Amino acid sequence: VKQKGRDGWHFFNDSLEQKVRQRLSVTQGLRLAIERNELSPRFQPIVCADSGRIVGAELLLRWFPQDGEISPAIFIPIAEMTGAIVALGLWVFRQACLAESAWRQRWRDSAPSYISVNVSARQLNEESLADDFSRILRETGADPRRILLEITETSLMADIDTNLRILRRLADLGMRVAVDDFGTGYSSLAQLTRLPVNVLKIDRAFVDGIDTQSENRAVNRAIVGLARALGLKLVAEGVENIEQLLELRALGCDYVQGYLFHRPLDEQSFIGRFSRELEE
Ligand code: C2E
Ligand code: CA
Ligand code: CA
Ligand code: CA
Repeated sequence: VKQKGRDGWHFFNDSLEQKVRQRLSVTQGLRLAIERNELSPRFQPIVCADSGRIVGAELLLRWFPQDGEISPAIFIPIAEMTGAIVALGLWVFRQACLAESAWRQRWRDSAPSYISVNVSARQLNEESLADDFSRILRETGADPRRILLEITETSLMADIDTNLRILRRLADLGMRVAVDDFGTGYSSLAQLTRLPVNVLKIDRAFVDGIDTQSENRAVNRAIVGLARALGLKLVAEGVENIEQLLELRALGCDYVQGYLFHRPLDEQSFIGRFSRELEE
């Protein structure tokens, strides 16, 4: 039984049968989602922690099948399981490249510094990934130095030798790499220094209690220290209130992303928001 809620379709009663049925309908629906034009990118601004000005944006995928919306938290894991993420991931990467190219033509030197795009572990296992990305960069005219690939800590560390090889090829194309959801996995310093990584993204779970829970503050302080030692930029995600911002600023976090500043926006709204900021 499904029911339409605030965030789209919710599936109640997670009996095994229902889970199987949900997975099946999502799998079948996703297969046609691209050609039916049901997918749409959102761009969540990433801002400078000190000035609050937009420095970049993260592309977040949205799916609107027929009359509803299904959250990426539901369909991305299913797409990863079935392998559909490979085709979806290429579509997403192309959208990021198209936006990068269009924004740079529109705003020239004042354009946002980068667009970040999520890449899942399953995509890294695809032998053709670097060639596909390279072709899409060429076709869209995007500047690879302005594309940041976000890969979760857990998937990076899962198969570090294979990933190292793939990441080197992606880095050779000129793109930069961020460790997403940092703090939720287990990377050792030794592993981190081996990978061509430029940015750490602190997971929302740690930003959440930063203003009230001293353990979270300690974790964040450790992450900031690690980033400094390795010369990496730091982005904190899920910043919802001013207390969190002040704390992150005091710790020396470079960039922040969260509802306190901007929600994920459709491209027109992003363009409006950024244009207005440039006029200020
Ligand atoms: P993520 O990469 O950690 O993305 C951040 C999530 O936090 C996004 O959820 C974003 O909308 C949400 N968020 C941002 N600021 C705030 C805030 O202040 N408060 C709260 N509560 N949430 C905030 P979203 O868009 O629902 O995406 C969920 C996850 O789905 C993403 O987590 C990412 O793992 C995955 N995902 C989304 N789009 C893609 C994609 O194109 N490819 C892949 N592989 N995964 C994607
Ligand atoms: Ca991300
Ligand atoms: Ca994240
Ligand atoms: Ca996260």
